[in-house]
Amino acid sequence: MDALGEWAGHAGVRLFSFVRMVRRVSEQLSGMLLEVFFPRSCVSCGDGVEDSGYEHLCRECARELFLVAAPHCRICGYPFHGMLVGPTSCPHCAELDPVFEAGKTIFLAKGPGRALVHELKYRTGFYLLRDIERMIRTSGDYLDFISDAVLVPVPLHPDKQRERGYNQSERIARALARATDGRSRMECLLQRTKFTQTQTSLNREDRDRNVKNAFALLPEAVVIPEQPYILVDDVFTTGATLNACAAALQRAGAEQIKVATLGHG
Ligand SMILES: [Zn+2]
Ligand SMILES: [Zn+2]
Repeated sequence: MDALGEWAGHAGVRLFSFVRMVRRVSEQLSGMLLEVFFPRSCVSCGDGVEDSGYEHLCRECARELFLVAAPHCRICGYPFHGMLVGPTSCPHCAELDPVFEAGKTIFLAKGPGRALVHELKYRTGFYLLRDIERMIRTSGDYLDFISDAVLVPVPLHPDKQRERGYNQSERIARALARATDGRSRMECLLQRTKFTQTQTSLNREDRDRNVKNAFALLPEAVVIPEQPYILVDDVFTTGATLNACAAALQRAGAEQIKVATLGHG
């Protein structure tokens, strides 16, 4: 009976690995067929994508994408041109009075950068996150910056999230965590308690007023003072939203807060 049980066990394991192999092969095949019938196109210009190093950016647009490297503003990540002398933050950030200590962005949100952010934010473009991960893995600076921390996505109001079906910052934070190979993890710690109108048409003062006290810690969330936290959002515009989130984390006891965004625009 024991021998029969053992035989059945082995047969079960073999059947399981056979099914897994069939599934893997059929996934690869369907991927190849998709490529043949629906060749990948560039998210920015619609041209075919070949040898650009990315899955969804053509060579021309990959060249046009402005990846940020040092020197840049310490707070928002906006690139400085030439040598850095004098203040380490840009004039915009001087007005912000930031609660967080530093910030970084991967690219400028114009041209192809803007197309990437737009597709992710409004058109469920999660397929782009693999390209984003690739950019981070080869970035050096940005990867170091987001490593060994808890990544906290900027939350959407529940009504907005229901309407959109997802929170793009949460998806981005998860992709950032993946790029660190387990050195950082994503945790949703904040909630948006006030429904705020869209910020796009507001000036800095109105944006500050609009988001002030709009964020709070989730009821079950725990903040550890000595733990580094990095707030994650799709774009850095004036920094008002990120600063309001940083203030909420600080009120909860966080002592080391930074911000990371995909784009600056
Ligand atoms: Zn293109
Ligand atoms: Zn700045």
